[in-house]
Amino acid sequence: MRSRRLPVAHKVTDLEISMSLIVQKFGGSSVADAEGVKRVARRVVDTQKAGNDVVVVVSAMGDTTDELLDLAAEVTSNVTPSRELDMLLTAGERISTAILSMAINDLGAKAQSFTGSQAGMITDGVHGSARLVEVNPDRIRESIEAGNIAIVAGFQGMNRQSGDITTLGRGGSDTTAVALAAALNADVCEIYSDVDGVFTADPRIVPTAHKLDTVTSEEMLEMAANGAKILHLRSVEYARRFNLKLHVRSSFSNLEGTIVIPEESAELTPTHLKEIPLEQPLISGVAHDRTRAKITVVGVPDVPGSAAKVFGLLNEAKVNLDMIVQNVPTDRPGVTDISFTLDQAQGPTALKALEDAKAELGFQEVIYNESVGKLSLVGAGMKTNPGVSFTFFEALSAAGVNIDMISTSEIRISVITELSKLDEAVRAVHTAFGLDAEGEATVYGGTGR
Ligand code: ASP
Ligand code: MG
Repeated sequence: MRSRRLPVAHKVTDLEISMSLIVQKFGGSSVADAEGVKRVARRVVDTQKAGNDVVVVVSAMGDTTDELLDLAAEVTSNVTPSRELDMLLTAGERISTAILSMAINDLGAKAQSFTGSQAGMITDGVHGSARLVEVNPDRIRESIEAGNIAIVAGFQGMNRQSGDITTLGRGGSDTTAVALAAALNADVCEIYSDVDGVFTADPRIVPTAHKLDTVTSEEMLEMAANGAKILHLRSVEYARRFNLKLHVRSSFSNLEGTIVIPEESAELTPTHLKEIPLEQPLISGVAHDRTRAKITVVGVPDVPGSAAKVFGLLNEAKVNLDMIVQNVPTDRPGVTDISFTLDQAQGPTALKALEDAKAELGFQEVIYNESVGKLSLVGAGMKTNPGVSFTFFEALSAAGVNIDMISTSEIRISVITELSKLDEAVRAVHTAFGLDAEGEATVYGGTGR
């Protein structure tokens, strides 16, 4: 095992200082154009010059992935996950790794670019949302041992059985970085984007949102699962499982970002402990999500087994459900309405599965609504504070926001509202919990696409 950073109190002699291995991941907005690529190259070279081994994971330049999807849509009406679509999309990351390596070499340092499969990212065969089954970064290790900076294409892997190239799902480069950092036993994994860290809300909606210095991985998981786009959900799960510290920061500034602490980790070093706030703040942030849709199955017979049938067939259709609510309408005895939320992208699949089983299930109709937004308040401190839900609902009420559905976990309250009211609701809740900062947050780049 590599030597970890020493406790602060320990006297460090020159001999004891060991080299760190740092994995740095740069998102698309950080490498949007040649200028951006050169800026990232300088930063990476500086990190190496400071005495570190560096492995870089990079996303496709700017909005390349979306542009490739648009291009696909111009030649086919069926842009769904497939072997060919993965071949197309992985080209984006291939461009950015090669171009970044060239920029680093131009600065007089040595870099080598690698595709996901060359870097040993082995996945299952599910195109468009492949899961890592194995990470063998032997070539990356050799490359850095030879003094190179290794540049790895994010978001892609290879399935061993088929030999085909796969992608890990949108935003998957974070997961590539975390998985590599874990496999290489890196000291830290730095995730660079166009904002200074993890904020109490999306600064594009709440300009007075403030950066968190630390956040626990438990809170980060809830935020990422509920729409915060700063980190890919799977990367947070992965980092938590492997007890890896993440540093989320901006590639446009030298400011310290947010440390995501794997708080339930078995081997906390003194450095880790120093970063855990003694008293958890009540709330760590307000997340929002515009990608949800709501389905209501109206007039389902109110007998045992009805819900099991509905959810059984949605499960068969591989539809992931989010919130679920069942209501017995007082004006229609003997029947019940079942509502749930899901990803808009799965809407057509869910509707078809339900319509196909209409006779068998005996319901009256299905209502589909994409004009919904989800707002989630997240904070480990709410576990022990009964006043949180009161403040939350009072803020929504004062803002005139109607609540459609509610769900909770130990450290989260979520509501579904009308989409047109979502931004206002986010700002109202953010203010009600005293999260507003004095000044406005900086968003350096990105089109928010
Ligand atoms: N380029 C891919 C995307 O836009 C992967 C990533 O950025 O992490 O989803
Ligand atoms: Mg991207």
